[in-house]
Amino acid sequence: MSEGSITAATPTRVRVVPAHKAEPAPGLVVDRPLPAPGLDQLSPFLMLDHFGPTPIAPGTAGGLNPHPHRGFETVTLLFDGAMEHRDSSGGRGTIRAGGVQWMTAARGIVHAEYHAPEMLARGGTLHGVQLWVNLPRRFKGEAPGYQDLPRERIPERIEDGVALRVIAGELSGLRGPARTYTPLAVAHFAFAAEGRTLVPLVAGHHHALYVVRGGVRVEGTAVPARHLAVIEGEGEVAVTAEAPADALFLAGEPIAEPVVAWGPFVMSTREEIVSARQDFLAGRMGRLDGVPF
Ligand code: MN
Repeated sequence: MSEGSITAATPTRVRVVPAHKAEPAPGLVVDRPLPAPGLDQLSPFLMLDHFGPTPIAPGTAGGLNPHPHRGFETVTLLFDGAMEHRDSSGGRGTIRAGGVQWMTAARGIVHAEYHAPEMLARGGTLHGVQLWVNLPRRFKGEAPGYQDLPRERIPERIEDGVALRVIAGELSGLRGPARTYTPLAVAHFAFAAEGRTLVPLVAGHHHALYVVRGGVRVEGTAVPARHLAVIEGEGEVAVTAEAPADALFLAGEPIAEPVVAWGPFVMSTREEIVSARQDFLAGRMGRLDGVPF
């Protein structure tokens, strides 16, 4: 032991989890890295679905028919294409490339997502992710809401061959526009070849980096496309890319409460799931009429 040695920082641990195929709606096949075997959740993050890139021919209708959610938030990021959204709280908007829709289901919402008219007219490519963010039990009864966050509202900084875009929370001095119920950060990193960045970790938070395209190294550990790196440690971690790559960074304070999930509902007890089903069937989460299917 040398003189002046200090207590070593907790070593960084990087666990690489591959996405698996899932079918959240008939015919909609996604890559899902969360939840995965041995990774029930990464609280407050419950699920991450990666769809596309899928070529869409002109005139092709598609999307998800009206369906309910309760007890959490759905966050949709589009990398390419255009989706139209409508919900029973009156929320309505078009998400385009680089844009984000942050929907708070809370006490209940019914929504539909489908190819936007511009995709129907011209065709295109559909590519994005949907992230499910849990709400603490005390917020599950809040009014539903909808935040439309187009690309121009999302701050961006380019440094050392890496474009950082912060959607929610604060990261490296940038603050994202999304309002959240618990402390968390969601950010997009776009790496040019030989891009390099340092990502700060927050003590006590969960952290993960999902590689959308290309491949990166997290503290030297290779993370291929469509894999999630669960990162434990403190301080900063170095993320590098030899070739162009895109990755989504998630950080958040865990919600230390039981999670009982059933289909589109995420509650705290089985009884609350039963109530959610009854309330939806009785129309108490609102209705959505006039959608084009
Ligand atoms: Mn939905």
